[in-house]
Amino acid sequence: MGSIEVTSIGFIGLGAMGSPMAGHLAAKLPEETHIFVFDVVQSLVDQICQQYPQKVTGCSSAREVAEKSKIIFTMLPEGKHVRSVYTEGPDCICSTDVANKLLVDCSTIDTASSLYVKDFIAERFPTASFYDAPVSGGVVGAQKASIAFFFGCKEDDENLPRLMRLLEMMGKQIIPCGGPSLGLAAKLSNNYLSGVIAIACSEAFDMGMRSGLDPRVLAKVYNAGTAQNTISDRFCPVPGVYPEAPSTKGYTNGFKVQLMRKDFSLAVEMAERVGSKNVLGQIGLDTYDKASKDERCRDLDSRVVYRYLGGNEDWQKDHQ
Ligand code: NAD
Repeated sequence: MGSIEVTSIGFIGLGAMGSPMAGHLAAKLPEETHIFVFDVVQSLVDQICQQYPQKVTGCSSAREVAEKSKIIFTMLPEGKHVRSVYTEGPDCICSTDVANKLLVDCSTIDTASSLYVKDFIAERFPTASFYDAPVSGGVVGAQKASIAFFFGCKEDDENLPRLMRLLEMMGKQIIPCGGPSLGLAAKLSNNYLSGVIAIACSEAFDMGMRSGLDPRVLAKVYNAGTAQNTISDRFCPVPGVYPEAPSTKGYTNGFKVQLMRKDFSLAVEMAERVGSKNVLGQIGLDTYDKASKDERCRDLDSRVVYRYLGGNEDWQKDHQ
């Protein structure tokens, strides 16, 4: 591994994704690089500090992380948290001098909040660089360092080589998407597509199965035909078709339906904002909204939409 050139990295937001991501940095960065972390939940800070006592130091605010670090990552739930951590109050990142620092927000948030934060920083600290870099691959991907980063910058961005070395410790693929907020736009359009496919897929399986087809046959047909896609294959919403799919494991270990609802809603909002005609948006959003409130589906993988739509999960007895 080449030199990282910086000896201090910050990480704010140590939840389901942030904790394993920061953990990879702690495990893989050279000894001379130190990591400063903060989360509003103190136990999450304590946990990672205990795991890497030589490498990680807990801070009492986002401001303290920013004071001590040259490159700062944030992994927070929503746009309001990102605005607050970067721009609001005496303990926010921008309450200290972040000139020449690199700030990378990996949260999945609305593009408007991301651009607001970027402009806020650019006005006060023109030599600082703020990037959107949302990720895909889920909690398991974060644990295995196999997530993909959709980076809001051009391919020839001068900071990219330096950041790449850090990102490669946390993930497998880094895709520069062209400019500010375009990492988020890419991520939201991807999740919109994936969410719509999951609904269509559930309906298609259901109509085929009710007509007498074995879902394993249907999966083969989709794979051989023009409907080929990864949801009807590796993420098959019908349990028992693909052994490794979350559905087969009781819809666990996947992408929670509430998170799909959130991303889908951000995508529909973005479509509206940019004037993109979006006939499936409201129907899709309504479906994920209701599924995420349904106690049979809540907290489960989003492909549980098949269950929400009344699909038969106990099909095997009819197709021995
Ligand atoms: P999470 O809720 O587990 O973690 C977020 C963390 O941010 C929490 O620990 C919370 O305490 C902390 N936090 C909130 N406000 C804060 C503040 N003001 N200062 C410091 N810390 C604060 O969420 P997550 O699953 O880690 O997701 C983080 C982001 O990644 C979200 O935008 C999510 O949509 C996105 N994402 C999640 C997944 C997934 O499968 N979980 C996959 C891809 C992307």
